[in-house]
Amino acid sequence: MDFKERILELREILNKAGYEYYVLDKPTISDYEYDKYMAELIMLEGEHPEMQSSTSPTNKIGGEVLDRFEKVTHTNPMMSLGDVFSLEELEDFLNKILKEAPQATFLCELKIDGLSVSLKYNEGKLIQAATRGNGRVGENITHNVKTIKSVPLEIPYKGEFEARGEIFMPKKSLIKLNEERALAGDELFANCRNAAAGSIRQLDSKITAKRNLDVFLYYYMNPIDTQEHALEELKKLGFKINPLYRHCNNASEVLDYVLEMGKLRETLSYDIDGIVIKVNEISLHDQIGYTVKVPKWAIAYKFKPEEVETKLLDVTFQVGRSGVITPVASFEPVLVQGSVISKATLHNEDYLKEKDLHYGDTVIIHKAGDVIPEVVRPIIEKRVEGAKPIMMTYECPCCHMPLTRLEGEADYFCTNPLCSDRIINSLIHFASKPAYNIDGFGDKLVELFYHEKYINKISDIFKLKDYRSELINLPKLGEKSIDKLLANIEASKKNPLNDLVFGLGIPNVGAKMAKVLCEAYPTMDLLKEAKLEDLSSLDDIGEVIAREVVRYFNNPDNLALIAELKDLGLRMDYPKLVITESFFTNKKVVLTGTLNSMGRAEAKKLLEGLGAKNVDSVSKKTDIVIAGSEAGSKLDKARALGIRVMSEDEFLELIK
Ligand code: NAD
Repeated sequence: MDFKERILELREILNKAGYEYYVLDKPTISDYEYDKYMAELIMLEGEHPEMQSSTSPTNKIGGEVLDRFEKVTHTNPMMSLGDVFSLEELEDFLNKILKEAPQATFLCELKIDGLSVSLKYNEGKLIQAATRGNGRVGENITHNVKTIKSVPLEIPYKGEFEARGEIFMPKKSLIKLNEERALAGDELFANCRNAAAGSIRQLDSKITAKRNLDVFLYYYMNPIDTQEHALEELKKLGFKINPLYRHCNNASEVLDYVLEMGKLRETLSYDIDGIVIKVNEISLHDQIGYTVKVPKWAIAYKFKPEEVETKLLDVTFQVGRSGVITPVASFEPVLVQGSVISKATLHNEDYLKEKDLHYGDTVIIHKAGDVIPEVVRPIIEKRVEGAKPIMMTYECPCCHMPLTRLEGEADYFCTNPLCSDRIINSLIHFASKPAYNIDGFGDKLVELFYHEKYINKISDIFKLKDYRSELINLPKLGEKSIDKLLANIEASKKNPLNDLVFGLGIPNVGAKMAKVLCEAYPTMDLLKEAKLEDLSSLDDIGEVIAREVVRYFNNPDNLALIAELKDLGLRMDYPKLVITESFFTNKKVVLTGTLNSMGRAEAKKLLEGLGAKNVDSVSKKTDIVIAGSEAGSKLDKARALGIRVMSEDEFLELIK
């Protein structure tokens, strides 16, 4: 990939991550990864100034401003901060400042992991609170900020006044909130920052009020000589400031502070993701200057991903739907980088042996790639004498039958077809959204019906209607919900064959593979008879999958199940698209932006029917990019690569 393509790719990754982080409050990649991509993009854009763009994420602050809030234009832009990730880089930054302004000293503060807020007062009264938004325009969140107890609604200051700071959720509040959300079956917040951002951007301030948010102020808008005095003045006015700031006279004092606070981090009741170092003398700020995005007189030193100690409580063994056995460590819940962790997978026997865990061990936990909880190692010095090593189990934790491990494979399997964990998990999988997608038939209900002996295999799901009068009397259910569920089950029978093939749980056959199989064998009768050689010659299907498919259909129990499902009226064919020869036939097409005349799914289906291959990302191999309104980085990339770009009107004209 050349630098142009890489730059465009990085912009696309960062734009998507930024949207998920700032707008949805649901990050899908770790901050660590995000920062790594950003550093690479800054470097590449620096090396190739001709590729600089004002819309690049390197020049953008925050995300979009949500329409559901009134927009607020900031008096002065609310900037982001430049960042460094090592002490060497920090030292370089400090030396650069001192070269330019030898009289500079530094004010170091904790970098609170929350979201920034501007508070405006007039005649001593809080008149407006706003998010940073895109730096120029933020969202009016006054009604919600008023619910934060530490925000003074009145201050002893006449005239106009603005303070800025960070709204955050204390670590304990996040733990409590996530516990409540888990009980209610709601999605958990990934970390303190996302929980704070999600809570402050609620339309109903009663919800915000319950979230126990807090705030530290650090920015004082009025003329003042130093940042240290700004903090003192804020305090005098009744604002809450973080007390752990320190005035450092030189670079070495700054480095000491950074190391000291790094050690303190775990013990704090709120999450910090680094240290902010500012030039203390405000008069030097303008001299040192600003970029479009960050002040040059301040920097954020970002901490490395955190490792935390906790107590190992147990290792249990879970049985998957295919019978695979997975050891899982559970430990005393701990907060790692803002999220509460109490479990981590130990994958298989080899991994378990490598970790050498003993009962009662104290272990070190981190988030692999900043996201997935992982046991790093036990602390041997803290091991109790005589503690027994934790070994792999060789019998199924559920049905107690001996496990088997196939030669050359890492996993142990329970092969007992009557094992209840296997059965329950396979039924849950069948009913789940990506598979047969039976609306309203979630894990809890599947388990209940299994334990009440109404379902034991997939075909039983479609016989539930025969037990309606009994089901409506089950606790917490009732006529309305059962009738709805039975109707959804009936409706699902029309699902195309690929959903059924995925739902059956053939090992290694995921949703995509199921589709590939059904495209080649569009009826169940054809698929059942498929030969190993023919299957292996299909695109995307390797020898392993082909063998699994043949093995599945050679098993008389599986054939009996399929016959039963057919008798019950489940659809056994895959609706092959009738392809009309067109301009788009055999072309790779990317859709981007918003189409006014139709939805994305509809447009994709239409293109498929015209013989096009829909692809998600733009590369040299793409033939056409159809760009709707607000098309972003994909359009930029298409232009840079010289790919044909088609407007919605042109597209409509061609398919007329
Ligand atoms: P930032 O969080 O790195 O730093 C700037 C912010 O720090 C300021 O705007 C302010 O809100 C805050 N801050 C906290 N304490 C402060 C103090 N004492 N003084 C001054 N400011 C203080 O920058 P950002 O622009 O808010 O966000 C960028 C960061 O967000 C990235 O570096 C990344 O870590 C994260 N991010 C992650 C994803 C993801 O997908 N995981 C996506 C986008 C951004």
